[in-house]
Amino acid sequence: MTSGTRSREIHCSGCGQDALVRAEPVYEGFRKVGEVYCCTTCGKQYASESETPFLSKIGHPQVFTEADRPAAPSIFSDDERQRSCGWCRHMVVNPFGQRCGVKNRFTEATDLCEHFEKKAERI
Ligand SMILES: [Zn+2]
Repeated sequence: MTSGTRSREIHCSGCGQDALVRAEPVYEGFRKVGEVYCCTTCGKQYASESETPFLSKIGHPQVFTEADRPAAPSIFSDDERQRSCGWCRHMVVNPFGQRCGVKNRFTEATDLCEHFEKKAERI
C-alpha cells in the first residue's frame, strides 16, 4: 500500500458495483475542509469517509489472503521420515521377517538406525 491519493474499493450504492473510489479534496476558499469520495464507475459522490461504503469496512474479503502465500515446503518432514529402516539399503527382507544387514537383527520398517544409508530409488 502506498500513502497519499490511493484508490480504495467500495460497494457503490449508486451503481451497485464493487468499484474503486477516488478521494477528492474539498476547498472552502483556499482552505481544504475535507474530502469527498467519488465512485470511478458511475461518479456518485459520498460527502464524507464515514458515508462511503468501503469494502474493507463492510467485511468484504481482501484481495490478498492467507491462501496466496506459498505453501511451506514439506521436504524436511519427508526426509526425516525416510531415515527409517524401510528406506535403508541395509534392510534385508526375507520370508521370516525383515532384518538390518549391518546389525544383523530384526527390525521394523519404521525403526531409526545410526547405520542408515538410503537405498536407491525403486523404479
Ligand atoms: Zn458507482
